[in-house]
Amino acid sequence: MIGAGVAGLTTAVCLAEAGLAVTVQAGQLPRQTTSAVAGAIWGPHLVENSDRVTRWCAETLEVLTTLATDPGTGVRLVSGTQAARAPHPRPDWAAPLRDLGPHDPASLPPGFVAGWRYTAPVVSMPVYLDYLAGRLSRAGGQLTAGPLDSLAQAVRQSTAPVIVNCTGAGARDFVPDPSVSPVRGQVVIAENPGITEFFIGVGDETHELCYVFPHQGRVVLGGTEIPGDWSLEPRPATARRILADCAGIDPRLGAAWILEHRVGLRPARPQVRLEAENADGDGPGTGRLVVHNYGHGGGGITLSWGCAREAARLVMSFR
Ligand SMILES: Cc1cc2nc3c(=O)[nH]c(=O)nc-3n(C[C@H](O)[C@H](O)[C@H](O)COP(=O)(O)OP(=O)(O)OC[C@H]3O[C@@H](n4cnc5c(N)ncnc54)[C@H](O)[C@@H]3O)c2cc1C
Repeated sequence: MIGAGVAGLTTAVCLAEAGLAVTVQAGQLPRQTTSAVAGAIWGPHLVENSDRVTRWCAETLEVLTTLATDPGTGVRLVSGTQAARAPHPRPDWAAPLRDLGPHDPASLPPGFVAGWRYTAPVVSMPVYLDYLAGRLSRAGGQLTAGPLDSLAQAVRQSTAPVIVNCTGAGARDFVPDPSVSPVRGQVVIAENPGITEFFIGVGDETHELCYVFPHQGRVVLGGTEIPGDWSLEPRPATARRILADCAGIDPRLGAAWILEHRVGLRPARPQVRLEAENADGDGPGTGRLVVHNYGHGGGGITLSWGCAREAARLVMSFR
């Protein structure tokens, strides 16, 4: 397996718990990945709108809801608001959330005119990635650090019958797959001044996306969505704008202690790539397989269990 973000670790857990011998190799270990930067809340975003995505989201919602009963996973069910500065249609994707309902416009933060309230899984990603890595290790899986030049090199160097490719935005060069591009997201991580509800202010022509995701002890504040930008360096002006926007949502954030600045690259692709192919491409087959699971855009956590289980089925159908 290649990649130790949420896609790689979840797929590895599915395979190892099914009894397969699994080794994950990754350029960045879990806490250094884009996955570790995410807010993160269940809800598809910057990903294809299709029946299969709806199915993967629903499957993942069920798993995350179960994991939320165990505090050690980093997953909790949190209530909150998605709001907009213009009339905002009922979000169709939120249909599986049983308590979805309109927000009283009079009690929205200044500038917002419409909103929806709901309860969804909110995931403290560093804790969750540690949980997945621990679960992989208990199932006998191995995790090793080290970048690989290309998929072709990985196929040549490995003797594994199946190689699973979960390289996120890295797939653009690694596969190579020019249809993958980054959507840069910068966040500010602050001490939580007592916030218990999430808030998402959707972006429009004049305002950037703005969000607050509370975790135990810290809050993740965002955000940005810059297509085609590969820079992993946090920008001070962007951080100042994020903090000002979030303080407009909850004034306590104006004085919150800043812990960290992080940047992640959402792996955008017109469609998620979840399929198996001959490891030798169009060449003479050696009977080995590559299974791809990447290109989840801004919804990699939201799709993670549905996609991982499908990728695992592709691997196991090959045995
Ligand atoms: C600011 C921000 C907020 C987000 N919020 C949410 C949210 O609320 N909900 C949600 O569902 N999603 C959210 N996302 C999107 C989500 O984070 C991504 O879709 C998801 O993390 C992608 O996971 P991944 O495992 O495919 O990729 P990554 O986490 O990027 O992991 C890729 C792995 O592949 C490895 N790799 C790549 N190339 C190579 C190579 N050549 N050799 C070896 N290893 C390689 C990397 O080192 C890494 O280990 C957010 C993203 C950002 C940036």
